Amino acid sequence: MSLHIPFDNSYARLDGRFFTKLNPTAVKNPSLIALNASLAGDLGLDARALASPDGIAALAGNMIPEGAAPLAQVYAGHQFGGWSPRLGDGRAILLGEIVSPNGQRFDIQLKGSGPTPYSRMGDGRAWLGPVLREYIVSEAMHALGVPTTRALAAVATGDVVLREAPLPGAILTRVAASHIRVGTFQYFASQKDVEALTALTEHAIQRHDANAEGALGLLDGVIARQAKLIAQWMGLGFVHGVMNTDNMTISGETIDYGPCAFMDQYHPMQVFSSIDQNGRYAYGRQADMAMWNLAQLATSLLPLIGEVEAAQASIDRFPELFRTAWLEVFRAKTGLKTQLKGDDQLIQDLMNRMVNGQADFTNTFRALGTESARDEFVDPATFDDWERKWRDRLSMENATPEGRLSDLHCANPALIARTHRIEQAIQAAVAGDFAAFERLCSALATPFAEPGENTDLARPPQTEEIVAQTFCG
Ligand code: AMP
Ligand code: MG
Ligand code: MG
Repeated sequence: MSLHIPFDNSYARLDGRFFTKLNPTAVKNPSLIALNASLAGDLGLDARALASPDGIAALAGNMIPEGAAPLAQVYAGHQFGGWSPRLGDGRAILLGEIVSPNGQRFDIQLKGSGPTPYSRMGDGRAWLGPVLREYIVSEAMHALGVPTTRALAAVATGDVVLREAPLPGAILTRVAASHIRVGTFQYFASQKDVEALTALTEHAIQRHDANAEGALGLLDGVIARQAKLIAQWMGLGFVHGVMNTDNMTISGETIDYGPCAFMDQYHPMQVFSSIDQNGRYAYGRQADMAMWNLAQLATSLLPLIGEVEAAQASIDRFPELFRTAWLEVFRAKTGLKTQLKGDDQLIQDLMNRMVNGQADFTNTFRALGTESARDEFVDPATFDDWERKWRDRLSMENATPEGRLSDLHCANPALIARTHRIEQAIQAAVAGDFAAFERLCSALATPFAEPGENTDLARPPQTEEIVAQTFCG
């Protein structure tokens, strides 16, 4: 049961401009909180070896597994619109990459693994709360069918992390198609290092856009992936909360589960993040913010693309790509299989009524096609009125809401990772009880199934349970 990770570290083969080589800082007394055996299996890794003392030591950064090439990546970024010329992995170490049995390449990263040259004022650590939140939410996103970084493991460090109070430390093992961000390109563009920009572009094309031709092709690929991704977020009532350019991947995976949240009651301008004072990253602004970020990527790639007009034309396609992806998502959510003019208005009409009706985002869509949908609205008659229009629209496909129920249930989850449930799980875990965390993870693995004994997890928070703000940690 010896630990063997077949590393093949393509990023580490780029030159020293791209990273700082360094090892994680050892922790006091590592213990395993969670190991994602199903993901380990998909990656071709031995879950039992990962859970062994050697495995835990590796997941804690206390032992460097053979073949790893630990490093901290450098990047820059616009944070809430303000330029930061050098960010980088301030509390993460890329151990290396592996190629899974099905031929996909993945980064294996330890998050919370100690200070690096990019830590600035930070301690390089993470406390248990954000580690559990990222574990829960990233795995929930995966089960919901959304491209995302994954959580392979969580370990407790045995060390104390100082935040507002002394808190238990933890480390997340994050798996990603890569950790290359818009901000990685921005860093080299701002350094006017065209050679590094070229190498990074080639590397990113190999990993994420094998068929793309040059920087313009890569840009088009990123734009297409992000348009789809944000549409999927919208379809789940997901608010990322910190869509800075350093938190937008080239792969099209969701990354950085800091102050994110799935909405309970629907409101288009919902914000949760304590640091998003102006609502820059509100639910309804996410597509605009993605486009803003993509414009930064285009600007960074300009030295390679050459023609401003071509880059501009790429960016200008984003709104239409997003619109198309959004309609695809929401047609599925309302059981529509054909595309008719006016679908957009019909869906928007429902959502406007949801605002006035104080309807729960997830539960309203999940209830479509059943008697109980109207009960989600403070004035059920407002839903009845919409339902008549919806019935008429479905009749054009010779369908009914009831007849489309199984399709609706495949598009509308019963379970999302509700913030109050995450908070309850974290509080219990801090007190030493991981049962709520484990139950939440297991329930969220099948979000489209009937919740059965997990019906309580589908309920919106009681007034006293509401978590109004989320934090980066
Ligand atoms: P984020 O807002 O999570 O994307 O983080 C922005 C930057 O701050 C990244 O460069 C992180 O590596 C860094 N950072 C966040 N928390 C810490 C920490 N506790 N110690 C060191 N660096 C951190
Ligand atoms: Mg980040
Ligand atoms: Mg973060």
